[in-house]
Amino acid sequence: MSDLTIGNVTAAPGTRVRGAIPVTMLPGGRPLEIPIIIINGAQPGPCVWVDAVIHGDEPEGTLACHLVDAQLDPATLRGSVVLVPVLNVPAFEAAQRGNPLDTFSYDLNRIYPGKADGYLTERLAHAHSVCLRETATYEISIHSGGNHSYLSETIFATTDDKAIELAQAMGKGWGLILKSFLPKGSPPAVMFEAGKHGITVELGGRPATSPRDFHRCGRVLAEGILNVFRHYNMIDGTPTYAEKWLTGVQHALLAPVSGMFLAEESAECQKPMQKGDLIAKIVDVYGDVLAELRAPTDGMIFGLRALPNVQTGEWCCFYAEIQGELDKK
Ligand SMILES: [Zn+2]
Repeated sequence: MSDLTIGNVTAAPGTRVRGAIPVTMLPGGRPLEIPIIIINGAQPGPCVWVDAVIHGDEPEGTLACHLVDAQLDPATLRGSVVLVPVLNVPAFEAAQRGNPLDTFSYDLNRIYPGKADGYLTERLAHAHSVCLRETATYEISIHSGGNHSYLSETIFATTDDKAIELAQAMGKGWGLILKSFLPKGSPPAVMFEAGKHGITVELGGRPATSPRDFHRCGRVLAEGILNVFRHYNMIDGTPTYAEKWLTGVQHALLAPVSGMFLAEESAECQKPMQKGDLIAKIVDVYGDVLAELRAPTDGMIFGLRALPNVQTGEWCCFYAEIQGELDKK
């Protein structure tokens, strides 16, 4: 086993350290950096990165990182874990999807691998990418529905066996694995291009930020991540698995008109639907129906808008076209 150095810190085998990956200085004299927690196990094994708050309005992953951190003992860990509780700090501080001060590279999850001499957030993506390429065996990007939607337990993975194995390692309750054929612009894309493996996991968002729901999302995410560690024999315990894994592709249903988004009362995530089933209506200020959203194929809703005010072109429904089941890898 050897020391693990990332950013401005080094973790000796069998230790836990906190530090940061420096990016640059901000006008007010504060550093822009990526906070990290490294738990370097005393015994050999893979290096797993967990990246939270790529989008600043998706703090479920931050809580998950805290819960995972509390469960890991570097003295018994096999391999190493790098937790990034908040990847995009300015976006987190503003509780917005991107850094509001960076209009040129606003959405961090679209600009990987970034650029050393690019726009501000491209530089952040670059600093993160370099460390990922150097050290990560596996990467888990945590997302949610953010300020506008709720997303149920859903994973996006490339279609190769190793990425599907990583997705299946999330365990019980994670039975929807959607295809991300050629990921672009995200941390899993950096992993893919480096011949490594990364997945995007989704859970939570606007209607699930009440105390009880928020803790539930954090716990479910943390339990999935710990199950990944069990699957790869990094910690003791018997991993769980979903009863079956459905796979398919995502359809993002965008608002055809502006108005008030009114989902059907029966609309529910991960309940089978048939092509043409009514999902939601958009009504005007007088209550007249302007548009209907219907299931584009047989499949299921996996995420739904939770902010009734809607403008043309905004996300309304995250729909999974189911194409079959996956075998265990
Ligand atoms: Zn996101």
